[in-house]
Amino acid sequence: MTVTTPALAGALRAIVGAEQLREGGAPVDGVTPRWTAAPPTVEQAAALVAFAHDERLVVLPRGSGAGLELGYPPARVDLVLETGRLDAVLEYSPEDLTATVQVGCRAGALATRLAVHRQILPLDPPGWSVRTLGGITATQASGPLRQRYGTMRDLLLGVRFVQADGVLTWGGAKVVKSVSGYDVPKLMVGALGTLGVLVELTLRLHPAPEYEATWLANFHTPAHAQECVAALLDSTVQTSRLEVLDGRVLAACSLPVSAAALAISIGTVEPAVRSQEALVKALVQRARGAVQTMGASFWRTYDRALAGFDGVVLRIGTLPTRLVETLGAVQAMLPGAAVAGAAGLGALRALVTHADPSALVAPVERLRGTVAEVNGGVIVERAPRALRERLDPWGAVPAPTLAVMRAIKTEFDPRGVLNPGRFVGGI
Ligand SMILES: Cc1cc2nc3c(=O)[nH]c(=O)nc-3n(C[C@H](O)[C@H](O)[C@H](O)COP(=O)(O)OP(=O)(O)OC[C@H]3O[C@@H](n4cnc5c(N)ncnc54)[C@H](O)[C@@H]3O)c2cc1C
Repeated sequence: MTVTTPALAGALRAIVGAEQLREGGAPVDGVTPRWTAAPPTVEQAAALVAFAHDERLVVLPRGSGAGLELGYPPARVDLVLETGRLDAVLEYSPEDLTATVQVGCRAGALATRLAVHRQILPLDPPGWSVRTLGGITATQASGPLRQRYGTMRDLLLGVRFVQADGVLTWGGAKVVKSVSGYDVPKLMVGALGTLGVLVELTLRLHPAPEYEATWLANFHTPAHAQECVAALLDSTVQTSRLEVLDGRVLAACSLPVSAAALAISIGTVEPAVRSQEALVKALVQRARGAVQTMGASFWRTYDRALAGFDGVVLRIGTLPTRLVETLGAVQAMLPGAAVAGAAGLGALRALVTHADPSALVAPVERLRGTVAEVNGGVIVERAPRALRERLDPWGAVPAPTLAVMRAIKTEFDPRGVLNPGRFVGGI
């Protein structure tokens, strides 16, 4: 028997209360949801998903909404599940360097709590302070600190999530030592909410560095910047951030423009920073770069410049030894694009402005061809729907790998309730 829309709405309202459920809501990729709910408790979130499962409604979790243009556009959205009211820091144990938070907690709010004990969660994707920790987890978002601390996959110890059938489950642990069995937290990171609605995260924290210094090194050519990256990686210098910025990103940060620059920071105790500073400067000069010391506000300016960009964002995975080829390929195939990212890891971003984004299909495919030479890839992190309808936002995945991923999705979400059709291969 088909349940009428008013009856569905009535049942949803009975779960979360009338004030937490509204008809419609902010469109996702131009698709207006039938309802938007903001459950104040994890149990209500679970009950909403259980109901959606029974009624075969499509559920789309939403944090701050900055990453909703990642993946294939949704064909249908029945229920947007906003996580904003699930924003508590449930447990914080400074002596164990762990915290358990609800997913709607903003990274900036957690940072404020941790600062009291001089601790950090070292995750800084563009605009990080207002992003939710659930969204950062689901999209595997990262920023400059990835150079030293890795990504959420390295920091997530445990995860509580709502299964597609509404059952609340735990994966991982609340302690730093690992538990036996499959590593469920790692599976959830970057899964774009296709395997479960994340509700709580237990995170591994780090001490804030006692002292940090940042330098900007400008180079006449990307080849000189790459030479310097290789020398830094091959040295005893322990960088906490090592970003490459092309001329356009330098201009967006209101910095003196050169063909390429490296932003290098070291964070540890002051004597250790001072002793490595001389080596950093020597390696920059050997690569014929000009180095200047930057103030503490540099990384905020850089973050604002990237987060404020209003065009197509491509996530490029390549090798640190291929910076020259990758910057060259972006410039040749996407004239006018800006490039920045983790030079020491080859995790770059291209920021592309184009009057007709759908004209970017062929250039992005050509760029994929270039980075595929080293098994790299290009993900369309953000683009208008028109482009992602014509271009696979994830790029090709080998058929056997995709078959495993499909099997995992079917096991976790046989009815296709959770963010269906948006992930790799249309999962
Ligand atoms: C201009 C710009 C530049 C960017 N540059 C970068 C970059 O350089 N590096 C980078 O890594 N990212 C980048 N991003 C992406 C963005 O920073 C991240 O995707 C963002 O941190 C996600 O957090 P959010 O709270 O906005 O999530 P949302 O946008 O609300 O959600 C993102 C996705 O996660 C799912 N989701 C959200 N919460 C949950 C949950 N609790 N359970 C399950 N699924 C959930 C949503 O359904 C959605 O598919 C950029 C974004 C913009 C707008």
